[in-house]
Amino acid sequence: MNNILRNKFKTYTAPQEVIKAGIYPYFRVLDSGQEPEVIYKGKKLLMFGSNSYLGLTSHPRIKEAAIKAIQKYGTGCAGSRFLNGTISLHIELEQRLAEFVNKEEALVFSTGFLTNLGVISTLTGRHDYIIIDESNHASIIEGTRLSFSKVLKYKHCDIESLKEILENLPTDAIKLIITDGVFSMEGDIAPLPEIVELSNKYNATIFVDDAHGLGVLGENGSGTVNHFKLDNEVELIMGTFSKSLATVGGFIASSKEVINYLKHNARTLIFSASLPPASTAAVLEALKIIKEEPERIKKLWENTHYAKKMLTEAGFDIGNSQTPIIPIYIRDDKLTFTFTCLLAEEGIFVNPVIPPAVKPNDSLIRFSIMATHEKHHIDMAVEKLIKVANKLKIKLNNG
Ligand code: PMP
Repeated sequence: MNNILRNKFKTYTAPQEVIKAGIYPYFRVLDSGQEPEVIYKGKKLLMFGSNSYLGLTSHPRIKEAAIKAIQKYGTGCAGSRFLNGTISLHIELEQRLAEFVNKEEALVFSTGFLTNLGVISTLTGRHDYIIIDESNHASIIEGTRLSFSKVLKYKHCDIESLKEILENLPTDAIKLIITDGVFSMEGDIAPLPEIVELSNKYNATIFVDDAHGLGVLGENGSGTVNHFKLDNEVELIMGTFSKSLATVGGFIASSKEVINYLKHNARTLIFSASLPPASTAAVLEALKIIKEEPERIKKLWENTHYAKKMLTEAGFDIGNSQTPIIPIYIRDDKLTFTFTCLLAEEGIFVNPVIPPAVKPNDSLIRFSIMATHEKHHIDMAVEKLIKVANKLKIKLNNG
């Protein structure tokens, strides 16, 4: 057998070096659900690294809905939405999602990543422009790579930088501005009112990836666009089911003309098997619960404000976070890994984030809040964060 390919990767030993150093923070195996307390290596850890913002992944009604869907439809749809893989639950979910984000129609994909990949590569053509925030999610970047359009990046949330790009583009060309609603690592919110103003001035269209805004911001958790009351100004809203919506999957919502085009042209929809019945039913139930139990969003925000206050008082650099995603800047990759592993030893699970997920020198601990956390969980986490920071001689800005 020819092993040129295998040989190429023999020199790729970076992960092994980190494992050897005892600070490898990835693929950690959990033996429990995404709860405030998880089981890792037989030990209880407080979970501050989950995207289950509303804590819905183990809600009894959602589990029950998923089980019922399996009983009726089985465990998979064995085909794409386009051909044999559409069930009535998909149609019902698309109607509910369109209502949820105040758009005419919605289209469900099998993951959020596939939604961005399929939609962004399909919407614009060779003579068009896609303009993206430099901190947008990887799935947006991959989508632009598959499109034939000209792609331009503006500085993170920098309106002047976006303006400079737009004013140099032809007025009558199709120009699609794509931004995360809530930035997945930094936790800041896109300046949508200013982006809308520019889009009106320069004749551009807006696409918001609201993976982290749904269930968190806006009326009844309907997202970042609604938070700014800009429902009529944003043409496309994308979301995932893998954060607040308790399972996996994704969707795009827009006008009926745009959805009609995507339905018949987006290749990750047409050539990939559809969302399984259990996940489809789970999202439908999650949407009902979000409406019926508004106290979850309230608790999420109470926890968020409390955690931010505690972290700031302790002197951590938490950047410009405006949401339950709280970055704790460490600004050194190795130290970030060490911090993560020492925290796990102290009973706290957090996620390390290093380039390219963030800019060089912006390595951070991603500390995320759930509605199901209690105050004492947050107190314990902050106490352990301070202990590890002191141990690693990280300077805290607390006077
Ligand atoms: N967009 C953003 C902003 C995300 O954070 C993510 C997931 N991390 C995705 C898209 C992809 O979603 P999924 O996990 O459902 O594939």
